[in-house]
Amino acid sequence: MSEDSKHKASMEKLKEKVDSHIEAADIERGVAVLLTGNGKGKSSSAFGMVMRALGYGQKVAVIQFIKGQQLSGEEMYIKNHCSDVYFYQMGTGFTWNTQDRTGDIKAAEDTWVHAEKVLQDEQYDLVVLDELTYMIGYKYLDEQKILNAISHRPEHQSIIVTGRGGGSAIREVVDTVSEIQDIKHAFKAGIKARKGVDY
Ligand code: ATP
Ligand code: MG
Repeated sequence: MSEDSKHKASMEKLKEKVDSHIEAADIERGVAVLLTGNGKGKSSSAFGMVMRALGYGQKVAVIQFIKGQQLSGEEMYIKNHCSDVYFYQMGTGFTWNTQDRTGDIKAAEDTWVHAEKVLQDEQYDLVVLDELTYMIGYKYLDEQKILNAISHRPEHQSIIVTGRGGGSAIREVVDTVSEIQDIKHAFKAGIKARKGVDY
């Protein structure tokens, strides 16, 4: 067999396999995705999917469990150009400071109110819960409450959770888990965080 026909035969076999997988996947519902691991690319991947959803005219909500001071390109873009995206950030009340655990818990719970609201709202097709895993890890939010809200969301709604760690229960509840590995990062070679790439 020539190289060309060998290639053709193996491509045909591959296509058959892919087609059979496509045919087997016949369940139509929203998916829950967890993007975790120590490598760079979790939140920016979530915002990539925000862009995809918006391209189809879908309704999107983004809830960020981060400090309010860290301005980012995605925040500016959404605020300036996507007035129909529900956007909420935990805000400056949050300190990641164990000395003000009570204040941190209050900020996390205030933010969770927004998450819970959109997770019950049929009109949202995609909900991003950025850096939510830390709230579970630090026990700032009740894990069971989070898992329930994710499990009972509208059937067509997809969600994306980002952040390192988060434990095994959330991995069970979601449909897709990707762990981004940290092979190397520019910052460790002394290169400053870059607008448009890092924030
Ligand atoms: P991104 O928002 O770029 O997708 P991320 O969500 O995966 O990153 P976070 O832990 O939320 O990661 O941190 C965001 C910031 O920290 C970004 O500026 C990112 O470049 C930087 N960062 C992410 N991972 C690493 C790492 N392994 N080493 C150093 N800096 C990192
Ligand atoms: Mg992130």
